[in-house]
Amino acid sequence: MADVDADPKKLTRNQQAVLAALKGAGRPLTAYDVLGLPAIRKAGMKAPLTIYRALDKLIALGLVHRIESLNAFVHCGHGPHDHAAGFLICTDCGRTLEVHLESCENHLAGRARDQGFAVDDVRVEMTGRCPDCAGRAAVP
Ligand SMILES: [Zn+2]
Ligand SMILES: [Zn+2]
Repeated sequence: MADVDADPKKLTRNQQAVLAALKGAGRPLTAYDVLGLPAIRKAGMKAPLTIYRALDKLIALGLVHRIESLNAFVHCGHGPHDHAAGFLICTDCGRTLEVHLESCENHLAGRARDQGFAVDDVRVEMTGRCPDCAGRAAVP
């Protein structure tokens, strides 16, 4: 991933539009959520495949992460990084927070290596309530 060039100018118009949509949303969107946005329609994207193609590229560039448990995509606010990202997913409001797992990733990969398992990717998705929703729940 070291030679990945994330220069936004190198993105196609479709990729830029999808990236802007995810940035603007501030929360994970499914490909169909993206497809339903007026800005995406205006950019001329009408097929899910077009969205998925743009997302694939953005994920490869490290600009977007896929959240498996939601089958959704979220903008990475940290710029491209090699280490694994974990996600805190609020089940009340849908907000997600990205946390970095440098040390934890090594630990998990070590456990896998003990079993002779070759790890490609580490995914950590934690569900619960964000500070706002947890605060609301505490007040009857
Ligand atoms: Zn990230
Ligand atoms: Zn919440």
